[in-house]
Amino acid sequence: MPRILVTGCEQEISTFNPVLCLYDFFTILRGEELITGNRGKNSTAGGAIAEFESAGCEIVPTWHAQGDAAGPLEHASFVRMATEFLDALKPHAGKIDGAYFSLHGSMGTTEELDPEGYLLQEARKILGESVPIVISLDLHGVLTARMMRHANAVTSYHTYPHVDFADTGRRAAKLLLRIVNDGASPVGVRVRVPALVRGNELITETGLFGSQIRQAKALERAPGVLSAGFLICNPFTDVPELCSQAFVYTDGDADAAERGALEMTAAFWPNRARMQAALVGLEEAVSRAAGMRGPVAFTDAADATSSGASGNSNAIVSEMVRQSYPHTVLAPIADPPLVAMAYAAGVGSRINARVGGSLDPRYKPLDMELEVVSLSEASFDLETWVFRQFPGRTAVLRGGKVTLVATTKPVMHVDRALFFANGLDPKDFHSTVVKSPHCEPQFFNDWVEENINVDAPGATSANLRSLGHTVCARPMYPLDEDAKFNPVVERY
Ligand SMILES: [Zn+2]
Repeated sequence: MPRILVTGCEQEISTFNPVLCLYDFFTILRGEELITGNRGKNSTAGGAIAEFESAGCEIVPTWHAQGDAAGPLEHASFVRMATEFLDALKPHAGKIDGAYFSLHGSMGTTEELDPEGYLLQEARKILGESVPIVISLDLHGVLTARMMRHANAVTSYHTYPHVDFADTGRRAAKLLLRIVNDGASPVGVRVRVPALVRGNELITETGLFGSQIRQAKALERAPGVLSAGFLICNPFTDVPELCSQAFVYTDGDADAAERGALEMTAAFWPNRARMQAALVGLEEAVSRAAGMRGPVAFTDAADATSSGASGNSNAIVSEMVRQSYPHTVLAPIADPPLVAMAYAAGVGSRINARVGGSLDPRYKPLDMELEVVSLSEASFDLETWVFRQFPGRTAVLRGGKVTLVATTKPVMHVDRALFFANGLDPKDFHSTVVKSPHCEPQFFNDWVEENINVDAPGATSANLRSLGHTVCARPMYPLDEDAKFNPVVERY
């Protein structure tokens, strides 16, 4: 019976969010909690655990941290987390047959720009060279040379919007067991592409990028291929190895891995310009929607908390106020001082508030007279994913035609769960601000007249040139229009 260690550390950050993320932001599962907290769930660890259990393995759960996307991780918090992560491995050194690490790949601290690579490097020192380590990554992960050196193989999501969490964990587990039980000997190849991409063409079901994923899946069905994937990275994690890239692992056949990775990248590169977001200017978006019957969704991907923004943007509401927008609008905002003011005043009172800009100085606070409609503090589940959301103290505020759901902490807006949790339904409003680049269609697209992708300022803007990258390798498309792709094969 193979003994398989299961651990993980998952988060992505936006370098451009000024709010640092701390240790307490993470949900940490220790020992058996890792199994009970993931069993039966659509999470990577859940999928891996199911596979290991059905294969009759003895699972050794150690430590797993999951943090929603945020600003850069304070380095001292990372040191504390890394120490816990590594200390939890030590008692099992020499006593396990393999290890599975559930990672995201787009972490970043205020000092360490490859945290996952560091964790793998240090884990390798503890577990030894002979223990196979297989990792899973988000499709937006930044796979680094150090990660590939210290992991035996990699798997990654094949869907965007992501729905295949458990499936990815299962694939990682199967791969690990091919090494442990069948003696498979992985060789890995990656080819990096100097391009950052964003927008609707990345949707794997319907967009251009789907063809790379179909290539990867076809490779994975071929005999001798252990895994294949295409990572589009999180363009907001400004780190040295930020890029799009293809990877392939085969059972000892480096040439086949190389061919597969080169085919995927060759097909991807010519589409780079079409894989940029089509955005509508803020002023035009609001004035156009003013003349529409509705309902209308305003996608504000620039303040997408699920990508690492602060959630503190007032940009669209400010423009609506400026233009005297004639329709009702529902908008979320993370704004601790605003919530505190609402709590101090109480339900039914009116406050002269400053909305937005309290966390992220790129937004000018908007003065509004608001009625405190309701107050709550309840956590809630997303409609779609397994991550529970903890908004802290929350206030529903109304001023004129604007209804705000103000939270103390940022929560994800990949669906309508925050609104429902506060007794609000976007269908009751003409317009809704959606702080997520993409949602599953049933949440908005299936019933709105139009979903307008707005070019608003923010830490996760799909207008990638607006962000101000300083660390990633250059030239990089679209930051540098003249970036060239000269394929280099890296073998591990
Ligand atoms: Zn992702």
